[in-house]
Amino acid sequence: MATLQPRPGRDYPRSIGEFQSWFRTDADCLDYLEWLRWPDGFVCPKCGCSGGWRVADGGYKCAACGARTAVTAGTLFDRRRSPLTVWFTVCWMFAAQKDGVSALSLKRGLEIGSYQTAWAMLHRLRAVLVRPGRDRLTGTVEVDETYIGGEEPGLAGGRAKGKKALVGIAVELKRPRGYGRCRMAILRDGSAASLHPFVTDHVEPGATVITDGWSGYQGITKLGYTHQAHSQRAARARGDDVGELLPGVHRVASLAKRWLLGTHQGSVEEDHLASYLNEFVFRFNRRTARSRGLVFYRVLELAVGHDPVRYRDLVANPQPKKTKPVPPGHRGHPPTLDRPPAARPWRTP
Ligand SMILES: [Zn+2]
Repeated sequence: MATLQPRPGRDYPRSIGEFQSWFRTDADCLDYLEWLRWPDGFVCPKCGCSGGWRVADGGYKCAACGARTAVTAGTLFDRRRSPLTVWFTVCWMFAAQKDGVSALSLKRGLEIGSYQTAWAMLHRLRAVLVRPGRDRLTGTVEVDETYIGGEEPGLAGGRAKGKKALVGIAVELKRPRGYGRCRMAILRDGSAASLHPFVTDHVEPGATVITDGWSGYQGITKLGYTHQAHSQRAARARGDDVGELLPGVHRVASLAKRWLLGTHQGSVEEDHLASYLNEFVFRFNRRTARSRGLVFYRVLELAVGHDPVRYRDLVANPQPKKTKPVPPGHRGHPPTLDRPPAARPWRTP
């Protein structure tokens, strides 16, 4: 994968106009994916040797072992049913639009045959967003939990109460003001047994962690953090606004809720909340990217580095996977990056 900083207008399109002129045909898209996948020339995925020659179908034949490899083989675009031009447009809308895109508007806007196809394309993209071994948050980090979800449209003709998910939020505070990166994950409950792993998964030891006075956070100093617990009771006694105790996490929570209700009109399947949160976090953490085209490039880069995502891995309530999740810091292609709910019996904490 390219290590140099990608250059606008040369490595990625700067605008929708450039996007359209670069990717007119599937062959254009294939050329781009080939460059992203093998920036220094073909490397055989079977034997690891570099060097080979192009064959008629657009793939490569390895000079060492003779194996043939399609450019998209073993990537997210393997065995796709939609043309690459459609996939690229979906990636562009997903990455370059400020709030992303919903399955319904994709289906309407791109004349994708079915809602299910559009839905699956977006979920495949969400599945590539979490890079294994990504850096944890550093500096001063606010941590809190909030409930997300809870209303399901269409039940009994109106809105019925569904289940809410408890979501952990961590966000970096910048000096003198503003926010850095954030992380979100579904929690089993608000106990120390759930909150401590959330902190260690997402915040680098040595950081200062600011929480409210909730007992579930007690003991995180032993995990290597400087802990500042801001008591709500003390804030009330001072006459301060309790809602402003942790302004960063409240800001992120309200943006995430607004996005789920706006772009997705609240029609987020409970089993997929984790992947929607991943998408929100990915976009939030790139909100200051100098070009939306760069975000498009990053999504494609992750997609060519990711294993194919099978439909049955996307649909609700899949069978538990036989393979273990790849631990952070491990290089390679994760099978899927949607965080499973915390309480799955096959997952050892
Ligand atoms: Zn080979």
